[in-house]
Amino acid sequence: MAFSNIFRLVSFPLVSVGSREGLGHIRVYCSSAPPIKPKRGRRFLKRTLIALLLGTAGYYSIKALEKASRPVYPKDQRKKVVLLGSGWGAMSVLNHLQPDQFDITIVSPRNYFLFTPILPSVTVGTVESRSIVEPVRKLILKYHGCDQVQYYEAECIDVDHKGKRIHCRDVSGIQGTVSEFDLDYDILVVSVGADNNTFNVPGVNENCYFLKEMNDARTIRNAVVDLVESASFPGQPEEEMKRLLRFVVVGGGPTGVEFASELRDFLREDIPKIYSNIKDHFEVMLIQSGDHILNTYDEQISDFTEQNFNRNHHNVEILTGTRVIGVEHDKVKVLDKSSDQKSTIPCGMCVWSTGVAPKQLTRQMMLKIQNQKRGKALLTDEYLRVKGAEGIFAIGDCSTIEQNLMLEKAQQLFEMADVNKDGQLTLDEFVGLIEKAKHKFPQIQLFFSKAEKNVKKLFAEMDTSGDQALDIGEFKNLLRTLDHELKSLPATAQVASQQGKYLGKLLSKTNANPELLRDPTDALKSRGVYQFHYRHLGSFAYVGDNKAVLEVPVFGALNGWWVMWLWRAAYASECASTRTKVLLVTDWIKSYIFGRDTSRI
Ligand SMILES: Cc1cc2nc3c(=O)[nH]c(=O)nc-3n(C[C@H](O)[C@H](O)[C@H](O)COP(=O)(O)OP(=O)(O)OC[C@H]3O[C@@H](n4cnc5c(N)ncnc54)[C@H](O)[C@@H]3O)c2cc1C
Repeated sequence: MAFSNIFRLVSFPLVSVGSREGLGHIRVYCSSAPPIKPKRGRRFLKRTLIALLLGTAGYYSIKALEKASRPVYPKDQRKKVVLLGSGWGAMSVLNHLQPDQFDITIVSPRNYFLFTPILPSVTVGTVESRSIVEPVRKLILKYHGCDQVQYYEAECIDVDHKGKRIHCRDVSGIQGTVSEFDLDYDILVVSVGADNNTFNVPGVNENCYFLKEMNDARTIRNAVVDLVESASFPGQPEEEMKRLLRFVVVGGGPTGVEFASELRDFLREDIPKIYSNIKDHFEVMLIQSGDHILNTYDEQISDFTEQNFNRNHHNVEILTGTRVIGVEHDKVKVLDKSSDQKSTIPCGMCVWSTGVAPKQLTRQMMLKIQNQKRGKALLTDEYLRVKGAEGIFAIGDCSTIEQNLMLEKAQQLFEMADVNKDGQLTLDEFVGLIEKAKHKFPQIQLFFSKAEKNVKKLFAEMDTSGDQALDIGEFKNLLRTLDHELKSLPATAQVASQQGKYLGKLLSKTNANPELLRDPTDALKSRGVYQFHYRHLGSFAYVGDNKAVLEVPVFGALNGWWVMWLWRAAYASECASTRTKVLLVTDWIKSYIFGRDTSRI
């Protein structure tokens, strides 16, 4: 553009002289050339800058006004809120508690937040460990200011829910003369996560690798390289080489699949370049007791992932319908569920990834607190209050929301619906019941929100005697069908962080007032606080070979290389800080250009 303007100025007869206002330039145009337009780029830049400045000023003014209008709580009148954990749930609560409103203390043995979705990438060095962690104290500084929140690197080992006090212990390598302490609380938020579920399979704890914490990922990374180095010893028998390079992954859920995918990428993309003698011997074996891997996802996604792994050159073998019955240091014993045949798989490494089990503290609390059903997690109501313990909330992997089953109240509901008391329900009576009960029982709305499901049709299906009425037996079958819609929320970061956000707002809006929190239903509605409602935004999984899958509510099942870019963009934007965003993207570029680092440090 600049060149063509200069050309016009010098190569055509002079006919006019003009000055451009504001810029003070003198320009000469030829008669046949069009007048030069003011520089659009510069004008656009100027306007964008002004808009940005005004936007920023507006944003900070609103923030300042918000802060000024917020009630000031003198320090000695603030409620004591103690957060247990530094993971997805607890950090989300911290982020959504109003500053200057509470006396906040965080207790967690891990002094950083871990961005778990990228942890499988750390096991092979696609991403470096420090790129996905953020110190708790930095997050405190970001959300509240460092003098507003206390953090103690300790583990809570006991909760006295009647005396509203917790006991904590320093479990790190270095301890001072004081290594245990007590803390009083008004509100306790338990977000301690969960342990690995070994299903009591013999040998798992002693011989398997797990993938839950950063140390696990680092241990796996070193072990993988160690196995590769040992396999490449001179004179290593071929059978032994094959055993050392056979990696067994137990569990076909997202974590198992993502780890197998990362491992497969590493073994295919980096190992052959630097270990030419062993490049054809490695194998990744994914064992799943169900019929398909990724079976909580859409069927299309399971199929795509299985096909992607099964392609000849991928070296990933999937064993479905197979249960692991024992693990030794050099082999895994399995049972084929269909034929009942037992067999042994020699391997160098077995990674166990089969779901979650309660932590010691969670188990202890479930035993101590009445009304807990001794299940796999702390039972809460829809406001995330732990049942049977006032002032305690539980979120994330250590908790589960109690399901309000209609079947348990069958007789009561039947009597309520049976207006003419003839011991049977007509269609009209049943419709009346649905209208009355739909807000109390979410399964009603879940069931009828699906296409082709309507009250008339369900009524007709359940009326097995065909007398246009439901007796109590038929009614119970109908309730069973409706209750079937209720499922426990999955143990995911998405659930934990949404619960954390909800709880942060709930506490801020009520100022943790015990009266309001004791019976929140009506009191909280006027403040715009309702029961916790999970919104599933979609699930990603990386499936290797630069491909990812995504299940998203409106668009359904998506897969392919472009989904991998979406996956990367989504997770990069979700990182806890700009620092980790930059580090994560840099790691991806680095490993793409230079390959993964195989140093065993
Ligand atoms: C490898 C991997 C990949 C994953 N990928 C995804 C994904 O892609 N998408 C997704 O949605 N979810 C994913 N998840 C699941 C997700 O990480 C968990 O659901 C989520 O971390 C649960 O959050 P939380 O706050 O309940 O527990 P966590 O995030 O596990 O945090 C628990 C915290 O409690 C602390 N703690 C433990 N015991 C105590 C105690 N006694 N006292 C005080 N503090 C204690 C721990 O140190 C930790 O800081 C993945 C998980 C793993 C392991």
